[in-house]
Amino acid sequence: MLTRNSLLRFTPQSGPPFIKKRRTNIFQKSIKTLAVETSCDDTCVAILEDNRILCNLKKTLSTVVQDGGIIPTKAHVHHQQSLAPLVREALTKANINNVSQDIDLICVTRGPGMPGSLSVGLDFCKGLSIGANNNNKSAPKLIGVHHMLGHLLIPLMFDPHIKFPLCSLLCSGGHTVFVYSHNYYTHEIICDTVDIAIGDSLDKCGRELGIRGNMIAKEMEKYITSNRNIINTNAQNIYQLPKPLSNKAGRKNVLAFSFAGYISAVRKMLSNVPVVKYPEFAYHIQETAFQHLIDKIKLSIELGKIKTNNTKNLQFVCSGGVGSNMRLRKKLEDQLPFKSFHYPPLDMCTDNAVMIGWAGMKLYESLNGVTTDLGATPLKKWSLPDLLKVDGWCHTNK
Ligand code: AMP
Ligand code: ZN
Repeated sequence: MLTRNSLLRFTPQSGPPFIKKRRTNIFQKSIKTLAVETSCDDTCVAILEDNRILCNLKKTLSTVVQDGGIIPTKAHVHHQQSLAPLVREALTKANINNVSQDIDLICVTRGPGMPGSLSVGLDFCKGLSIGANNNNKSAPKLIGVHHMLGHLLIPLMFDPHIKFPLCSLLCSGGHTVFVYSHNYYTHEIICDTVDIAIGDSLDKCGRELGIRGNMIAKEMEKYITSNRNIINTNAQNIYQLPKPLSNKAGRKNVLAFSFAGYISAVRKMLSNVPVVKYPEFAYHIQETAFQHLIDKIKLSIELGKIKTNNTKNLQFVCSGGVGSNMRLRKKLEDQLPFKSFHYPPLDMCTDNAVMIGWAGMKLYESLNGVTTDLGATPLKKWSLPDLLKVDGWCHTNK
């Protein structure tokens, strides 16, 4: 087993002690993966055979709209009610009769996320891996996966032309990070949010405008698109939205994102101005938040934070729920100097178990059989650069 110290000694240059360079997959056959994602409110289960999706299921917590947000205890109960039936359904749909014989990897989100939600998935998968382990070497291996690594790697499952090193913008309901990745397991955060995530902010701003739905920012995109004929795209001065962490005196070159200020600005505007053109306001909220993302990515390039001579040689990946927004994609492509831009299919942008299965499979392969210890606990916070520095990794394939 790897000790915490041996993992802490790991540097991107030396590689962790268990790495052997090999190109073929470690099982020397196709890999079947059962994947579970329960980090937030959606219960997700998938079964993959290499990069083929045999089954992909999601059960969304139905009370989020009426509650006006996610209540952690309700999410916990939702996973407890949904996960086991969903796994049974997935196994049936994928024609898997015997987990012990037919599944090679059990991949489950270990963090970051809500501890109660994570523990339902992690404990279920620990139990499943023990139950399926009849002391035979081919029994499924357990891999505790980093949720954001799932978002980061999922575009690579669908596009074999994406190569490391690469830059990623991961923008979702819970996270907003700009990352430089050397390989599957070595990642540097270039820019992170100092407060809330862009998806959370857009959801709350949209709610103030009266937009409703399970994913309000998604509904807001539809609202803007369907009203585009009556929107004055040059009216940004009317709406006075903040430019967070901009280069003012004393705050020069702040390399971070911030999205909390938009919500109070929207509330203020709505209470001060009697007639607000709602679709136009929604457009400028979205536009300002996306421009903030882009300005900070540009700043990170100007400051030389991306370790390459020329970003024009680098591929750029955008993923996470907000990454499915077409206006964001257009703005990124118009304004950023990268070689090419890549996105997962739309249904793979928001949380799903396919991305967890794929990321777990890639970790297992690239780290030559790394697995997760049965004593591993859920990680509420887990930064991507610390992927391998946490307790709980072990190596069963020496
Ligand atoms: P995730 O946390 O990755 O599951 O993504 C969910 C977040 O993405 C929520 O805040 C959604 O409102 C947001 N989202 C989903 N689709 C879109 C879209 N098309 N435009 C903007 N935000 C979106
Ligand atoms: Zn997510």
